[in-house]
Amino acid sequence: MSRHEQTDVVTSLSPQNPSDVVARVPAASSEAVQQAAAVARQAFPEWSKTPALQRANSLETAADSVRRSSAELIDLMVREVGKPVLESEAEVARGIAILRYFAQQALDPSGDVLPAASPETLLYTRRSPRGIAGLITPWNFPVAIPLWKAAPALAFGNVVLLKPAPEATAIALRLAEIIGEALPPRALTVLPGGAISGRAVVEAVDLVSFTGSVPVGRAVSALAVDRGIPFQAEMGGLNASIVLPDADVEQSAAIIASAAMGYAGQKCTATSRTIVVGDATRFTDALVGAVEHMTIGDPAKDDTIVGPVITEDARDRVTGAASEARSLGGRILRGGKALDQSGWFVAPTLVDGLPPEARLLHEEVFGPICAVISAESIEEAVEVANGVPYGLVTSIFTLDLNHALRFANEVDTGLIRVNAPTSGVDFYAPFGGEKASSMGPREQGKAARDFYTSLHTVTIAAGA
Ligand code: NAD
Repeated sequence: MSRHEQTDVVTSLSPQNPSDVVARVPAASSEAVQQAAAVARQAFPEWSKTPALQRANSLETAADSVRRSSAELIDLMVREVGKPVLESEAEVARGIAILRYFAQQALDPSGDVLPAASPETLLYTRRSPRGIAGLITPWNFPVAIPLWKAAPALAFGNVVLLKPAPEATAIALRLAEIIGEALPPRALTVLPGGAISGRAVVEAVDLVSFTGSVPVGRAVSALAVDRGIPFQAEMGGLNASIVLPDADVEQSAAIIASAAMGYAGQKCTATSRTIVVGDATRFTDALVGAVEHMTIGDPAKDDTIVGPVITEDARDRVTGAASEARSLGGRILRGGKALDQSGWFVAPTLVDGLPPEARLLHEEVFGPICAVISAESIEEAVEVANGVPYGLVTSIFTLDLNHALRFANEVDTGLIRVNAPTSGVDFYAPFGGEKASSMGPREQGKAARDFYTSLHTVTIAAGA
């Protein structure tokens, strides 16, 4: 059975200690999803008509509740998805900030007044919530992603059905309990499960926001199109960092090492290709050195940078990609093997000398593995960076403003960064990719309102 199939029970295991069962709960059947949608539909009129100020207060109260429960959520995140504790702390803090940000956005103007055909006519736009928002989320940001979707959905008056990834079931259920105290009953319902529950959610809701892998995102989007409902899908990446000869070698190596290997490379924005222009020797040595300095191990420890990957399959994907690289004549600069300890640990892996057809250069592995590629010029580097089906984020490291400006115009990703890691997201800025990485409108920041509301144009003329 593939991991996308589903049984009657959802189980999540701690990746550092797979004998630790973190959640074991019934999966939401199609009927259970339909029932939850029917109840959410009853909750919608009241929440959608609740004054914006009150909705804002509810989100503020939810933010306070998450703050009070931070320690518990951080522990659960470390235990259930193996995220190193410092990153878990940062993510919970970000979740609180997201709730407060959208509490404020609930009070923003909800339309414009436009010049009308005559002075006796009022022409304006007004936004309204769309109904039940179905949110389908991955396991790697188990607090931030559900919140960056649920907070705007709720702020603008929608009700929510959240289908979290099976691997992050416990944290989703606990998060919903914590923020649910500030909301009317059934404004937010979590439906644990896998593909069956996910499909049933898409069948039952009025709009769908998905984050996860490309194949699943495409299936979800196709179903949404079939139903004629608005959708957005944020999916995978194969992100490049380009290093120009004028870049500070040690500094760029440290930043790229952390973008490639932090949280064991399990971020959609992780660097998985480093393209070095000119002689790559010094930079490659510095990158290997920076990765070697990273502490690998128990994600509960403060100094851990690289914890486990999420499952045994994920670990095998990384070691499989390293073996394939070796068999194609690539050089394993470091890593390439699973660690000899319990839990799904794999050594951070750097590879160079790959032929252009190697899968590592074209497909997302989603683990701590990064290819180093040589290029002769910035033009060639940009061509290589752009030459993949994905288009989420690209970075360049240079002190030359002309190169930075040209790069920003020529690279075909949704996010473009100069002297900054590919990883890292500002929740108040629009977020999304190009090509296979993204479908539908951007999320986060002010862009969220467009997706979670529909716009009405009203013309009121004076009577004769
Ligand atoms: P996934 O695609 O396997 O699962 C995502 C969600 O979809 C889960 O909740 C899963 O249960 C559900 N699902 C699976 N099959 C379904 C179906 N047929 N219909 C409806 N729902 C279904 O992804 P994952 O392993 O949880 O997460 C890792 C992936 O997410 C990586 O590809 C990563 O790049 C991507 N990701 C992207 C972003 C972004 O914002 N671009 C952020 C984080 C992760």
